[in-house]
Amino acid sequence: MVKCVKCGSRAAYYVSYVRGGFCRDHYLEYIEDRVVRTIERYKMIPRGSKLVVAISGGKDSVALLHILVKRREEIGYGELVAVHINLGIPGYSEEAERVFWENCRVLNVRCIKVDLGELLGVGVPDLSKLSGRPPCSVCGLVKRYVLNAIALVLGADVLATGHHLDDMLVYMLKDILSSNTEELSKLTPVSKGVEGLTVTRIRPLFEVYEENILNYAIASNISFVAGECPLKHLGAVEVESREYIEKLERRTPGFKLTAIRNILRMLRKEGEGLGATPSKCQLCGMPSRENICSFCRLTEKTLGKPMGRHVVESLARIASLTPASSLS
Ligand code: SF4
Ligand code: ZN
Ligand code: ZN
Repeated sequence: MVKCVKCGSRAAYYVSYVRGGFCRDHYLEYIEDRVVRTIERYKMIPRGSKLVVAISGGKDSVALLHILVKRREEIGYGELVAVHINLGIPGYSEEAERVFWENCRVLNVRCIKVDLGELLGVGVPDLSKLSGRPPCSVCGLVKRYVLNAIALVLGADVLATGHHLDDMLVYMLKDILSSNTEELSKLTPVSKGVEGLTVTRIRPLFEVYEENILNYAIASNISFVAGECPLKHLGAVEVESREYIEKLERRTPGFKLTAIRNILRMLRKEGEGLGATPSKCQLCGMPSRENICSFCRLTEKTLGKPMGRHVVESLARIASLTPASSLS
């Protein structure tokens, strides 16, 4: 019988890279400690800061929200706002939004929902069709824009997302293989913001395995969307990379953690912030590498007019109407 390394009772979960098991309670504590240590290690959340957490409804972001709320005293932020974007994906977005509100109610945090259909008149599937771009590419662009804009209008210091180690490692590998140094340089635990333009992004699950966060969500009985987005499409490089990484992890437990830390060290040596500082979009005032930002260009192409300014103004209205909670 595998025993819990903390209390000696029967282990419910085995963590291969620790080479040890944990009972349920000590497993939850272990994962929470790991997230808190990651936040401290990379100095993600200044004391007293205002934190926006992006909630998709999936296990990762919802579990992250629970951990941030549970360990608030230790982490030391001053205010927390959970933000969800309803992406208008039939059969999936309704469930994701239901899960979002359920967790908001359970945790009693300030919650803001942004509805893409209400903002633009269309959701991700139509934007994808009209632009001729893959759904995930359009979706990623829209989420980045909306989350940054709402974090700005809320006056947030930090924007947290639920990207875990497995995702980050695969993204890194893809960027290394395609020599995309600019994108690679953004895949860090903390992406520093630029005053008035971008809010600092943090990834508190940067050193947490996907398997561990899934087990955490199940063990703590958290409500999350179990199914996958019907529009999800993984390319061949991503599928093969994941399989290869898993094979190496099975052979050498802890491989993934060592690999991600090594890539990060390499990025630091090569110089952080390889990407140039963005300037302002001339139409909406949001960050852009060119005169017009990619969101304004996408909406102009698909909807006939650039919607950035309209979205930013609508988000300011939505943010001002949402009441505070006991955690704000
Ligand atoms: Fe958006 Fe793609 Fe994720 Fe679906 S799988 S929510 S389309 S990024
Ligand atoms: Zn125990
Ligand atoms: Zn713009």
